[in-house]
Amino acid sequence: MSRPIPAFYCCYLLRSLVRPSSLYIGSTPEPRRRLAQHNGESKGGACRTGKAHLQPWEMCCIVQGFPSRISALQFEWAWQHPHLTKRITTSLRQEMGECAKQKRPGYSLNERLRSLRLLLHSPAFSRWPLTLRFFSVSVDKAWNEMCKKNQISLPTEIEILYDPRISEPEDPEAALREDEGEKVELTSTGKVKKVRTRKYAANGEGGIQALDTSYWPLEMYHQKTVELLEKPRKRKCVICSKKTEKEKAVGCYHDCEMVAHLSCLAEQMLKQEGEGHVVPVKGWCPECRGELKWSTIAGEFSLRTRMKSEEEEKKMAKAKTKAGMTAAAAAGTAGTDVVLVEATESEGELEMYSRLDMGDIPEGMEEEAERSLFALDDSDMESLRDGVGRLES
Ligand SMILES: [Zn+2]
Ligand SMILES: [Zn+2]
Repeated sequence: MSRPIPAFYCCYLLRSLVRPSSLYIGSTPEPRRRLAQHNGESKGGACRTGKAHLQPWEMCCIVQGFPSRISALQFEWAWQHPHLTKRITTSLRQEMGECAKQKRPGYSLNERLRSLRLLLHSPAFSRWPLTLRFFSVSVDKAWNEMCKKNQISLPTEIEILYDPRISEPEDPEAALREDEGEKVELTSTGKVKKVRTRKYAANGEGGIQALDTSYWPLEMYHQKTVELLEKPRKRKCVICSKKTEKEKAVGCYHDCEMVAHLSCLAEQMLKQEGEGHVVPVKGWCPECRGELKWSTIAGEFSLRTRMKSEEEEKKMAKAKTKAGMTAAAAAGTAGTDVVLVEATESEGELEMYSRLDMGDIPEGMEEEAERSLFALDDSDMESLRDGVGRLES
């Protein structure tokens, strides 16, 4: 069984607050926990960021919305190695390489932002539902100046946000306790269900602390679709008029009771886009004509059809309770987060991997990359990065 599309996966740019010319690029499903690791507040930071004279680090910006862990790793690698990646054109890559040769060590902030911009523009990534989110005022400014100077506009699929932390809550822990909780609800079929309640961005603050990395944003749409597909009379696809199994159907996230085959809707959205693509980006609901984003449809569908059944989940939870609790304690997050993250991390790696495009892994590195991609912890990922680093030097 393959895994659902992860609730959250991002690539990030770190900058040392002590020596701002020191930058670091990584990827993670849990940016808050990862930043704490880089700053030595919890175990598992990267070797280079562990140097005390460079700490603390700030997370200046993230690119979020990757449909899989592998795709986030591909983006991360391409951003780290703009002069090697095959995802931007040869001439641009050479240009990046020239910059790199002239100035050592490492790329400057402007060069990092420039290669980020090129990657977001590249055919490989420009159709992904990515969001670029700035947390740092100066990095956001540098980005805007670069875009203005070069008169650049990004693909409309990519959302760009400035999301700084505005105020510190007086007691951050109390604010968090107030914001998170659980309540019990009855579903339409009479089952008892625990619902997580969570308000983000309390006190008007944003920043990395207010990021929602859970499936919560999909929850209302998910519940609505599950209930809709329980109704037998609703099981006809509005596009082909044939009966549809629950496991093959999707709904609409607007105020509308449209039901369609996933494949019928994909085909229709691709026709609306009018080009030879394989995966749609957006289109219109055939019933209410509201705009539909493919990433949201696919996210809900994968959550509904690929998330483990209650039975399986119980079994998995039993085996994982110990590890999960430790991880939850280390991460300082609610247990529910950890279960959801782990559910996306454990199974189906093989299937994902079989679809992996190894185009960005340099020759001779395939084996090391393979081992590292199968591994789940960050130290294994470090070895991939170190290996690639060795190859470069
Ligand atoms: Zn159909
Ligand atoms: Zn609709």
